[in-house]
Amino acid sequence: MPNASPLDELVSRLRRGHTLGTIADLLQWDEQVNLPPGAAEQRAAQHAALAEVHHAAASDPRIGEQLGALEADAGKLTPDQSTVVAHARRDYDRATKLPAEFVREKAAQGSRGYHAWAKAKAADDFASYAPVLEKNLEFARREAAYLGHGAAPYDYALDKHDPGLTTTTVDRLFAELKRDLVPLVRAIAASPRAAEARAVAARLKGFPVEGQGAFLREVTAALGFDYARGRIDVSLHPFCSGTGSDVRMTTRFNADQPLDALFSSIHETGHGLYEQGLPATHLGTALGLHAGMAVHESQSRLWENQVARSRAFWRHFEPRWRALFPEQTAGVTSEELHLAVNAVEPTLIRVDADEVTYNLHIVLRFELEKKLFAGELAVRDLPAAWRTAARELIGLEPANDREGVLQDVHWSDGSFGYFPSYCLGNMIAAQLWARVRAMRPALEEEFARGDFTWLLGWLRENIHAQGRRHSATELVQRVTGEPLSPRHLVAHLRERYGALYLG
Ligand code: ZN
Repeated sequence: MPNASPLDELVSRLRRGHTLGTIADLLQWDEQVNLPPGAAEQRAAQHAALAEVHHAAASDPRIGEQLGALEADAGKLTPDQSTVVAHARRDYDRATKLPAEFVREKAAQGSRGYHAWAKAKAADDFASYAPVLEKNLEFARREAAYLGHGAAPYDYALDKHDPGLTTTTVDRLFAELKRDLVPLVRAIAASPRAAEARAVAARLKGFPVEGQGAFLREVTAALGFDYARGRIDVSLHPFCSGTGSDVRMTTRFNADQPLDALFSSIHETGHGLYEQGLPATHLGTALGLHAGMAVHESQSRLWENQVARSRAFWRHFEPRWRALFPEQTAGVTSEELHLAVNAVEPTLIRVDADEVTYNLHIVLRFELEKKLFAGELAVRDLPAAWRTAARELIGLEPANDREGVLQDVHWSDGSFGYFPSYCLGNMIAAQLWARVRAMRPALEEEFARGDFTWLLGWLRENIHAQGRRHSATELVQRVTGEPLSPRHLVAHLRERYGALYLG
């Protein structure tokens, strides 16, 4: 086994780097769930010390030597070994090709950028934020150039979150989606049922937090989340971190918005099920790693939207929900509940958006990011461009930049190219859903009996067990037999929301 030695050595170094990464995740989780307010500085020092150790492990020259040896004899590698080597090369180059000085400057700029954004947002003062954003764009371009992607920096930004994704692909998918979705959102917003859905949602009040917590634990356990290998806690913004045998989800409670905690925890459960389903024997290499943010988001959206907003899901869980909250649910019919679960209301704020409108918020951000990177849009013209795009896409115009270009944190620390994965996740979820429904016509009857095992088993085998063997578009092609397309998402939205709002 001439290759066994460098490969085994490589894998053991990758595992060590991965383990250090999981410690960093745990510190981050603890910061958002448990940290006493006075401990922020101490925690920052812990983060910095660990980041140094982590970077040293990831840029260890011996990884470069082992990669060199394996690549020189690439013909002898199995396809799985090639996957491990290719992704290790990608990560190693990213860890070593950026000058230390640049990494330090960029980290400091990211931290300054966050504070400048928070201040600018509070004061609705885009002008004070514009120079920061220009600098962030410059850093993003320089980073792409260091990695050899100076000619296509936005492709590099997309690839960072979703290996293999390109601007051309996203452009084509989003243009088609926009064409079909804008008229659908307009028609729903004009329907009298839209106001009715909002009115029912507003009547769901006074749900004790303890009961909400008990209910969402029952639901997420029934979907398959393994609480022996994970937990759920409370944080300001819901998230899911960790992997393998230690997956940490969070949610947040509001007595007067009981569907919020429930659906955000089902969303995070989708992320958690993916992490719990990655092959344990390969944790630390590409074979034990998720396929990118778009596929990750497809898992959370599938459970949240296709499964948990369906009538079948509620046929099973509604009696229990009513038993836990008899007074709060007394005046609400099953049909009204279904409407509240699927309320649609165009809003200016992305994080408040419903399943239908949400995608247009992402299209808007993608189009602006693309133009910024192409040099077709200057940072100073961004607020006006945002207002025009919001009017065209969502049908609403922001009264100020807080409701417009200043609303999201992402660009403040230079996280460009991340937004598209949210919408691509919705597309992938809908395409997977179309496939499983065709394969298993009785699926929704199983949901109505509280049985979600077949769906989870199918995802385990076809998505989770694949690790990072395929890019998002390859994976979708393999699993569904056709290229990734927005048509399944449009069909899903027309079927569900057309029946509710336009019937
Ligand atoms: Zn998510």
